[in-house]
Amino acid sequence: MNRLQGKVSIITGAGSGIGRGIAEKFAEEGSIVVVADASPAGGEETVELIRAAGGTANFQQVDVTKAEDVERLAQDTIERYGEISVLVNNAGISSGDTLRIHEVTEEAWDRIMNVNLKGVFFCCKYVLPAMLERGGGSIVNIASAAAMGMGPRAAYAASKGGVASLTRSIAFQYGEYNIRANAICPGPVDTPMSRAARANGTYKQAPIVDLCVDRRGEPEDIAYAALYLASDESKYVTSDMMLVDGGAMRLRAEQF
Ligand code: NAD
Repeated sequence: MNRLQGKVSIITGAGSGIGRGIAEKFAEEGSIVVVADASPAGGEETVELIRAAGGTANFQQVDVTKAEDVERLAQDTIERYGEISVLVNNAGISSGDTLRIHEVTEEAWDRIMNVNLKGVFFCCKYVLPAMLERGGGSIVNIASAAAMGMGPRAAYAASKGGVASLTRSIAFQYGEYNIRANAICPGPVDTPMSRAARANGTYKQAPIVDLCVDRRGEPEDIAYAALYLASDESKYVTSDMMLVDGGAMRLRAEQF
């Protein structure tokens, strides 16, 4: 308990799935949580869940692809709580059912890059000055096992590879200011996004990958990793790509 006592955490995409799991876990561990999501319904529901459990949270409607929304998110959080200690860049979209690069439309490519990569850039751009001001902070980016080469979704994988590279650059540029940046690379996690992808056939061309752990991940599995990376327990960990995938990648590596 209280592993994040005194922290103020912004979590994007916290109105559903993995982001909600992280928001609930962070609040349970004492952090004030800003639930930032494009969806008011999902975001407000997460806030209600946190408050019902005795935590502190507020919702802010944010489209991470809009610089003015993200700038306002950072400003409002400072005004309300005085600082930003943790940023979890979790908001993301899946590429839908156009898997091969010659089938991907320019519009789909731009949409995926805007949400999954430019959105992370905007959030870091507008939150980092507050972390510099407070003398430190932790950024946790939710990438994907797809960033490590797993899966056929070209545009999605490229966006998540970009998130991994951006994470390393931030770790390099801000390490001397006590600001850490790490990425989590989840394997298959049971959320509305992955349920929709299974239902619409997105994974139909995916390679069959066995997991060492015989189940899909739950949002809580990712939340525990994010909790460690957000807390001071990981103070010597930065620029890391933490795989939380039930062992899928390790099994594949052995197969080759
Ligand atoms: P989800 O669809 O359940 O939740 C995503 C949330 O992000 C939603 O609440 C949505 O409203 C919000 N969002 C979408 N676009 C937004 C925008 N422009 N601005 C602000 N909020 C926005 O998805 P999830 O499965 O929980 O995925 C969360 C993250 O984890 C994503 O980045 C995803 O790529 C990544 N991920 C998921 C899996 C998986 O198997 N579910 C695996 C690897 C990585």
